Amino acid sequence: MIEPAPKQKQNVSYQVSDEGYYGNFGGAFIPEMLHHNVETLRKNYLKITKSVDFQRAFKSLLRDYVGRPTPLYLAERLSKKYNTNILLKREDLCHTGAHKINNTIGQILLAKRLKKPRIIAETGAGQHGVATATVCALMGMECIVYMGEVDMERQAPNVARMKMLGAKVIPALSGSRTLKDATNEAIRDWISNPEDTHYIIGSVVGPHPYPDMVARFQSVISEEMQKQLKQKYGNPNPDYIIACVGGGSNAAGAFYHYLDNLDVKLVAVEAAGEGIHSGKSAATSVLGTPGVIHGSKTLLMQTADGQIVEPHSISAGLDYPGIGPLHAHLIRTNRAIPMSITDEESLIGATLLARIEGIIPALESAHAIAVLEKMSFKKSDIVVINLSGRGDKDLQTYMKYL
Ligand SMILES: *Cc1c(COP(=O)(O)O)cnc(C)c1O
Repeated sequence: MIEPAPKQKQNVSYQVSDEGYYGNFGGAFIPEMLHHNVETLRKNYLKITKSVDFQRAFKSLLRDYVGRPTPLYLAERLSKKYNTNILLKREDLCHTGAHKINNTIGQILLAKRLKKPRIIAETGAGQHGVATATVCALMGMECIVYMGEVDMERQAPNVARMKMLGAKVIPALSGSRTLKDATNEAIRDWISNPEDTHYIIGSVVGPHPYPDMVARFQSVISEEMQKQLKQKYGNPNPDYIIACVGGGSNAAGAFYHYLDNLDVKLVAVEAAGEGIHSGKSAATSVLGTPGVIHGSKTLLMQTADGQIVEPHSISAGLDYPGIGPLHAHLIRTNRAIPMSITDEESLIGATLLARIEGIIPALESAHAIAVLEKMSFKKSDIVVINLSGRGDKDLQTYMKYL
C-alpha cells in the first residue's frame, strides 16, 4: 500500500521555464540544422495558440469533430468493488479512439497559421500516426508518417487506416526498425525541408516547446474535469487522479490544472512489462537515469555508457525508453506518485473493466485500472482515472490471453 506523497514546499514550480526546463529536466538539445525550425515554433506557439481566432477554431473542432467534452462517468460497480468513488474520464470516446487527437488538432491548426502545408510525424504503434493522418485529411494537408518496418508489420491495421486517410507511410529501415529509428527519419526529413514542413510530435516529449505545447493542448482534459466535478460534487478537486504514462501526454492533460493544487494526489502509472527488474520493462521512473533523448533532458533507460535500453511493454503506447521532462520533474520532486504495472496485471485490469462496467479499455489505459489493486482509498475519496483510449486496437492481444 502506498503512502501519499509528502506535501511540497510551495516554491516548487511545475510550469516550464523560459528556457524550456521543468526543474532539472527539459531544454532543447537539437542539431544546429534544426535550430531555425524549433526557434520559430518557440517564438510563436504561445502567441498563436492564445489568440482568439485560434481558440475559437480549436474549441469548435474539439466539440464538433472530436466529440468533447468527454463524459466523466461514475463507475458504480467498480467503485463498489474498491469501496470508494471511482470516476472514469472517457477519452476512449474521442474520435479515433484516444486522447491523441486533442494534440493533433491543436498542432494542425498551428501548422496552418505558420503556413506549413506539409506535415510529418513518427509513430510506433500507429495511434499517433492515425491521429495525424486524420487531421491532415480534415485540413487537406500533405501527410508523411515515418514508421519502423518491424512496427509496420506488427501494426498492419493502423498502417491501412493511415493509407485510407491519404497519408504516405514511409518505413524506417535502419537500426532495430522501430520507433526510435522512425524518429531519426522524421528529424532528417525536417532538417531537409525546413521551409514548408511542420513536425507533429505525439506526446509531451521532444525539444522545448513541444512538451509544454502538447501539455497545453491536452489540458482540456483537466479543464473539463474541474467543471464536471464541480457540477457533480460542488468541488472541482478530486482526491486522486490516476493516469498511465508512456511519453506522458494523457497524464499531463489530466494533471495540468491540478499541478499546483497539492491536495490532489497525482498517480503516474508506468509499464513494468514482465517485471521491473526482468530486463523486459518500461518502468522509466525506477530504472531511468538523467540523459538526453529526442531533444530533451529527462529520465531514460540507458546503459552505463549512455546507450538506450530497448524497452518492453505489452502495450505499444507505453513501450518507450523515456518519459516527458514534466513527469521526470513531478516524480523526482515527489509531486506525482510513480506506480508500475506488469503486462499480466494490465490484462487482468482490462478484463475487470470489461466485465464489471462493459468498457473495453486500451491496454495502456488498463494499466491505470490495474493500479486500483495496489492502492487503498477512503470510502469518501473521489478517484478519477483517465481512460486514455478504447481497446478495439488490442483485441488480438486480449483474445490470445483469454
Ligand atoms: C499513445 C497512448 C498512450 C501513451 O501516450 P501518452 O503520451 O503517455 O499519453 C496511452 N494511452 C493510449 C490509448 C494511447 O494511444
